[in-house]
Amino acid sequence: MADDCLFCRIIRNEIPAKVVAKTDDCIAFRDINPQAPSHVLIIPREHVPSLNQLRDPDVVGRMAMLAAEIAKQEGIADSGYRTVINTNADAGQTVFHIHMHLLGGRGMGWPPG
Ligand code: AMP
Ligand code: ZN
Repeated sequence: MADDCLFCRIIRNEIPAKVVAKTDDCIAFRDINPQAPSHVLIIPREHVPSLNQLRDPDVVGRMAMLAAEIAKQEGIADSGYRTVINTNADAGQTVFHIHMHLLGGRGMGWPPG
């Protein structure tokens, strides 16, 4: 837990969020500025600033499994979806608590911008 981390504060219920799933290890909530009809952020309860600081591969494994479950709930598992972890400036990371974006409900371009 980091006192001044936005996503730790969401985990502690200090900041409201539209939560779509909770597990022992992760929570998932709707992005405040959605970039697709479905845009959910999956975060571990453990404060890991970015992929660069990841030590336990299970953390991302659990995030990915939960993303796939939520994709089913959102009805986008078959049509398709994108999962993204942005790391540092060139990728546009703005919140330094690791998170997986789950985006779907529209076609996506490749390569990403
Ligand atoms: P990134 O740019 O990959 O670090 O993603 C951070 C994401 O967090 C952005 O898509 C923001 O729209 C989203 N975000 C920022 N503040 C909140 C919040 N209070 N609740 C939900 N999503 C947020
Ligand atoms: Zn945090």
